[in-house]
Amino acid sequence: MAEETAESLGRARETSGSEKVVLSENEWREKLTPEQYHVLREKGTERPFTGALVNNHDDGFYHCAACGVPLFKSDTKFESGSGWPSFFDPITKDAVELHEDNAYGMRRVEVTCAKCGGHLGHVFPDGPGPTGQRYCINSASLEFEKK
Ligand code: FE
Repeated sequence: MAEETAESLGRARETSGSEKVVLSENEWREKLTPEQYHVLREKGTERPFTGALVNNHDDGFYHCAACGVPLFKSDTKFESGSGWPSFFDPITKDAVELHEDNAYGMRRVEVTCAKCGGHLGHVFPDGPGPTGQRYCINSASLEFEKK
């Protein structure tokens, strides 16, 4: 497929509500900061305790930094001590997708944004509350909207 075709398809899909957001890597590079691009598109991990939202305790919504959909709510955020924003549940079951990740000799479950496929972090079965899950999410993948 020619690059122009892929890019125009991406734009068309981005504007239509429930469809996936599909952009070319060049378009993501233009839209995101270098750090956001590294985490969201190259499955990078920010260094612990460095992200802007680790210690955020305000009420509000955490959106995907790439495509803008709401992913987590402040009332599911908890102090995990890990150095990354941690949540025990996504905003809806369908907001995120889970993938087996065997990189770096570890068996982990990767969490991605269901709408744009952006890498968010990983989920571990050692969380608190009603779910027992710990969604360990990079600040770089999130944008906070204060309520
Ligand atoms: Fe997204």
